[in-house]
Amino acid sequence: EAVDILQLSLNIFGRLENIAEDRNVTLKVKPDDLSEVWVKADQDRMQQVMLNLIENAIKYGNDGGKVIVHFNSGKKYVEISVRDNGPGIPPEHLTRIFERFYRVDKSRSKERGGTGLGLAIVKHIINAHGTKIAVMSKPDKGTTFTFKLEKVFQGAHPENEESLTSQASL
Ligand code: ATP
Ligand code: MG
Repeated sequence: EAVDILQLSLNIFGRLENIAEDRNVTLKVKPDDLSEVWVKADQDRMQQVMLNLIENAIKYGNDGGKVIVHFNSGKKYVEISVRDNGPGIPPEHLTRIFERFYRVDKSRSKERGGTGLGLAIVKHIINAHGTKIAVMSKPDKGTTFTFKLEKVFQGAHPENEESLTSQASL
């Protein structure tokens, strides 16, 4: 099944708009000239993955922070990353965050709700797609989750609307 992971990400942004606004967090996709990024994946499962990763980035990031979903296309694969510029995850916790019910800072996490199942499910789904998820985190710099999916098709916005219109009228 082919899924437009860029459009899917924008839809998730819409669903999380309220919690992002409450914390003054900016949501972006990059690079910004892309209009569609089709990958081989299960639509519902991928929705669960992106929802949890983006929600985490907002919840555990900084007030006034940024969350960026980045697409890096190769020939056969697209590398998808979800980045925040929050407080990060201490190295001693980093290997355990994919475990069920594992939450880093009990008090801070408790305050933010949740069960600690999100990333265990994310990892399970990504593995079921025959691929892996990696996490990189630097204290006070932020956290990045990255995984690859098979590329199907990718489309870019036209350079600008004006040149398209004038071309069309020739
Ligand atoms: P749930 O997803 O079930 O609602 P949760 O968000 O606590 O609950 P996970 O998504 O599995 O559970 O995340 C596990 C823990 O990893 C979180 O409680 C948080 O401590 C830490 N964590 C996850 N994402 C980030 C992030 N982007 N920055 C900092 N810490 C994070
Ligand atoms: Mg979560």
